[in-house]
Amino acid sequence: MKKDFIKIVFLISLLFFAGCAGAPVRGAVSLKGPIYDIDNVQYVPLSSVREAYEVGYDWDSIAKKLTLHRAGKKVVVAVGSNVALIEGIPKTLDAPVKMRHSEVVLPRRFAADTLAGLFIETRLVRRPATTEPVVRRAVLEPSAYVISRIVLDAGHGGKDAGALGYGGLREKTIVLDIAKRVKYHLEKAHIDVRLTRDSDRFVSLWKRAAIANQIDADFFISIHANAARSRSAHGFEVFYLSEAIDDSARAVAAAENAALKHEKSSFGNAKPSNDLEATLWDLEHTENREESVEMARIITNTVSRRLNMRNRGAKAARFYVLKGCRMPSVLIEAGFVSNKWEAKRLSNAQYREKLAQAIASGIINYKREYDESEGFTK
Ligand SMILES: [Zn+2]
Repeated sequence: MKKDFIKIVFLISLLFFAGCAGAPVRGAVSLKGPIYDIDNVQYVPLSSVREAYEVGYDWDSIAKKLTLHRAGKKVVVAVGSNVALIEGIPKTLDAPVKMRHSEVVLPRRFAADTLAGLFIETRLVRRPATTEPVVRRAVLEPSAYVISRIVLDAGHGGKDAGALGYGGLREKTIVLDIAKRVKYHLEKAHIDVRLTRDSDRFVSLWKRAAIANQIDADFFISIHANAARSRSAHGFEVFYLSEAIDDSARAVAAAENAALKHEKSSFGNAKPSNDLEATLWDLEHTENREESVEMARIITNTVSRRLNMRNRGAKAARFYVLKGCRMPSVLIEAGFVSNKWEAKRLSNAQYREKLAQAIASGIINYKREYDESEGFTK
């Protein structure tokens, strides 16, 4: 009896130790190398961070922007700035990131605490294979670069009616209808689609991007309808995010960004300073450009070919709703509600169906091209 008891204790402890064997202890990885004292703040060089956490990095020498990445996790910092974007979320550092003898140096506390917490945890804890989104993506994604999940964003909604057109036509109503129809056609093509709103309700611009970031969407597509002071303006255009913009793009962006006035603040309840917003813009905006430009180009071409519609082209603009997205994104202006002829067409359900079909096939054409190329940037 006693012998059995000892045997069981032995077996249990064996199991316990077997379970622990090889499991690395968190905190075992530490920063080695020099520590510099600059203006009474301790700094460590980028090389130490890379070595300790085995992170990859991209260096944008013009913007002086550093992106650290490992296992899908990402941190962006810029020299001279004390704001870091950690998985898209801004964090204020004790001191700005600096250069020392042509190497980037990071505040030691940030490197030792924040970066260790993010990158070491990624290294030691594997994502459980049973997590539902992982399994689903594995089924849908034979290769790593396939586009499988798209967020469709019907512009405006609720108290924000968007552009007002002929015959009382309201942008928020027609774009929701078009978005639902596009969703239907994309789902038929086995693309997982989420809508940022599926009813006439107000959703902040910030929240729309956050929805896409939360579900790790592969593409964000915002659908709008245009209005212009000139009643003769008409046609279809698709925008991507860029700094280099012309006056007409600036005007469209100003109109669409006006939804911001309905929001308490652009970042939840705590309104950050303009400086912070400018910094975040700098940290975020150059990414995913190539995919966005290509998507914009293919959608405009497909739609103008299918429908007898003026192709106003793929254009650059600064849209707030696209700024927050951590994936490639475009904003479709599906026509002018301020143009009598186009407003009449847009108020017709059959026309909207044709338009939705054309937008969906543009997206599917892009997807095909992208999937085959295994990602334009890879
Ligand atoms: Zn709009």
